Amino acid sequence: MLEVELEEEKKEIVNNYRKLLRKAKTVMKEGDSKIVRKAFNVSLEAHQGVRRKSGEPYIFHPLAVAIICVDEIGLGTTSIIAALLHDVVEDTEISLEDISHMFGEKVAMIIDGLTKINGVFDKDTSQQAENFRKMILTLSDDVRVILIKLADRLHNMRTLNSMSTDKQLKIASETSYIYAPLAHRLGLYAIKTELEDLCLKYTDREVYRMITKKINSTRVNRNKFIRNFIKPIRTEIDRLGFEYEIIGRPKSVHSIWQKMQKQNVPFEEVYDLFAIRIIIDTPLDFEKSICWQIYSMITDSYQPNPDRLRDWISLPKANGYESLHTTVMSEIGQWVEVQIRTKRMDDIAERGYAAHWKYKEINVKGKSEIGLEKWLLGLREVLEQNNGSAIEFVDNFKSNLYSDEVFTFTPKGDLITLPKGATALDFAFHIHTQIGATCIGAKANQKLVPLNYQLRNGDQMEILTSSRQKPNEDWLKNVVTSRAKSKIKETFKEDFKKVVEEGKIIVKRKLKQMKLSFDQENLEKLAGFFQLNTTTELYYNVGIGKIDHVEIKKFKIQKRDFAQRLLRRIISPKSEKRTIKAPEERKIDQLLIGEDLSKLDYTLSKCCNPIAGDNVFAFVSLSEGIKIHRTNCTNAPELITNHGYRILKARWTTSREESFLVGLKLIGTDRIGIISDLSNLISSELKVNMRSLSINTNNGIFEGLIELYVDHTIHLDELMSKVGKISGVVKLSRYN
Ligand code: MN
Repeated sequence: MLEVELEEEKKEIVNNYRKLLRKAKTVMKEGDSKIVRKAFNVSLEAHQGVRRKSGEPYIFHPLAVAIICVDEIGLGTTSIIAALLHDVVEDTEISLEDISHMFGEKVAMIIDGLTKINGVFDKDTSQQAENFRKMILTLSDDVRVILIKLADRLHNMRTLNSMSTDKQLKIASETSYIYAPLAHRLGLYAIKTELEDLCLKYTDREVYRMITKKINSTRVNRNKFIRNFIKPIRTEIDRLGFEYEIIGRPKSVHSIWQKMQKQNVPFEEVYDLFAIRIIIDTPLDFEKSICWQIYSMITDSYQPNPDRLRDWISLPKANGYESLHTTVMSEIGQWVEVQIRTKRMDDIAERGYAAHWKYKEINVKGKSEIGLEKWLLGLREVLEQNNGSAIEFVDNFKSNLYSDEVFTFTPKGDLITLPKGATALDFAFHIHTQIGATCIGAKANQKLVPLNYQLRNGDQMEILTSSRQKPNEDWLKNVVTSRAKSKIKETFKEDFKKVVEEGKIIVKRKLKQMKLSFDQENLEKLAGFFQLNTTTELYYNVGIGKIDHVEIKKFKIQKRDFAQRLLRRIISPKSEKRTIKAPEERKIDQLLIGEDLSKLDYTLSKCCNPIAGDNVFAFVSLSEGIKIHRTNCTNAPELITNHGYRILKARWTTSREESFLVGLKLIGTDRIGIISDLSNLISSELKVNMRSLSINTNNGIFEGLIELYVDHTIHLDELMSKVGKISGVVKLSRYN
C-alpha cells in the first residue's frame, strides 16, 4: 500500500477516535479520557496489521462499536473501554489477566462475557436454545455485555456486504433470531428496526429492494395524506403554545413485509403503512395532560377505535417505553394510527437508554444518580425471571417479543422462521414441496406429533414421510402459510387432471360399447343427461366413480336432443324476417331482444343480473330455456368457450317501459345523516324506486346495500355518479 494511503488511513483512525470522544463528552467523568485513550492504544496496537474483510484496518471496528455504545445506546466509560477491547482477548495475544491488570476486574469480566458469546453460535446449531439460555443467564451478570454485543452485531450487520453469501445468511439469521428480539426487549427500537431491515436485506434482497422502492415512490402521496389529516387539528395544537412536530413515519421494510405475508396482500393493500406521530415539547409536569389534550383534539375530528387505545403514559412498558397510541378513521375510510408523545418520550423510545442521559435531572429528581446501574439491574431481573427448561425459556422470552413469528429448527439445526400458528405441515412444505406432499407426521423435539401440530418457538422438527401419502382437502385447514396452501392446491389440480384423463378413457370405452361415436354431440348429450355443464365435469365424475357404468348405460340416445329441440323452437320462423340459421351450421345471427323476444321465453340470469343497456348475450340452457347473461358475467368465458354453439347474440332494441332491479354496494365513513342523505337523493331527487336499503356500521365504517329499480344503464350511471358524490361515500359498486 502506498505511503500516502497509509497516512490517510492513520488520519481517518484519529478522526474516528476524536468522534468517539466528542460523542462521549456527556458521559465521561473527570479523568476518564486518560483511560479511554489507554484502551484505544492497547486495541490499536493489538490489532496492528490486521484488516477486516472489507480491507480496512481492524481498529475501525472496535471504534465504531464504541461509538454505537455511546451514541445509540447511551452507555458510559466502562462500556467504551470494553467496546474498544472487545475482540482483543479472542483475536490477539492479550490475555484476560492483562486486561484485568490494566483496566480492572469489571472491564475484564465484560470482555470475558463478550468472548464467550462469540463461542455460543459456532458450536452445533441444534443446541442453540440451550446456548441462548446459558448466554442470557451467565452473561447477564452485567447487561452491558449484551448491550455491547448488540453494538458489535449492529456494526457487523452494517458492514455485512463484504462477507461471503453464506456467511451473510448465517449472520443475518442469527441476528433475526437472537439480536433483534433482544434489542426489542431492551427498548432499543431504532437498533431493533435497523437490525431487522438489514436481515431482510441479506436474506431476501428482491423483497427488500421492491419494498424500499415502493416506500420511496409513495412518499408524495403519503405526505399529502398527512397534510390533509392534520389540517383540522393544527390550529388547535398551535394554541397549546408548545413546540411540536408532526411526522408520518413509514413502517420499517421488515414490518411491511411481515404484514404482506401475514395478510397475504400486495404492498399496495397494506393499509397501515405508516403511523402519524405527534411529538410535543412540554415541561415534565405537563406531559400527561398535554398528551391527553391532543388526544381529545384528534378524536373530536376523527372517530377513534376504542379497542386500539394504548396508554403507555400512565403505565410505561417494562423497557421504559412511554407513548399514547390511538387509531382513528380518516376521511378516505382508512384507519390511521396516531402516536402522541413528548420529546423526552420520543427520545427514550427511539434510542433506549441513551436518551436517559439527556434527561438525567429526571433521575436525580426521582431518587438517585445511579440511574444506569438501576436500569441494568432491572433488565437483569427481566432476563432472569425464567427458570424452566431451555426451550421453555426461549419460548417465553420470545413469545412476548414477536407474537407473529415462530422460530424452529431442522434436525441439522438450520433456523426456519414461520408465521405464528404454522403447523408441522407448513414446516414440511417450507422444506420441500415433495416432503410436504408426502408428510404423514413429524417429530417435535423427538416426540411424535400429528400433521396439524402447532409449532412452538425452539422446536426442532423432523418430518416423517411416506411415498403412499397424498394431500387431501382437509390439509388446507391444517396450514397457515400461503406457500403450503398453494402447493397443496397444486397437487389437487394435478390429481384433477389425472382423474379427468381416466374418466375420458372410460367414457370413450362405454360409448363404444353402446355403439355410439365419441364426438362432441354425444358427449354433450351424455353430460346433459347427468345435468352437468361440461364434458370435463362428465369425465371427472366418471373418473372418480361418482357416475359408474350402470348409470352410463341408463343413458339412452334420445331421438332428439333437448337442446336442439329448444333451439329449433326459438328460431322457428314465427316472424319471417328473422334470419337465424340452424344451430347445426354453428352460425347464428343476431337475435334481437325486444318486444319479439318477450314472446319467446327468456329469463335474466341471476348470476349477473342484466338490465337494459347492458351488453348481453343469450344462452340456450339445457333445462331452463334461454337465459340472458351480461357479456362481462363471470360465467361468460366458460359458457362461450365450451358451448359456443348454444350462444346467441343478443341486443336490446328499444328501451322499454320496464324496470330492472339492481343492487348497489357502498362503503364509506360513518357520519350522522348519511342515511337520510342517501334515501333523499335516491327517492326524492332521482325519483327512483328503492326496494331495500340496509346499512351496517362498524367502528366508523359503514357498508350499505341498496336495491332499487332502474330502467336503463344510462339511468343507473347517472344515479351512481350522484350517490358517489355524497360526502362520506368512499366506494360504490354494482353487485348482483
Ligand atoms: Mn467485534
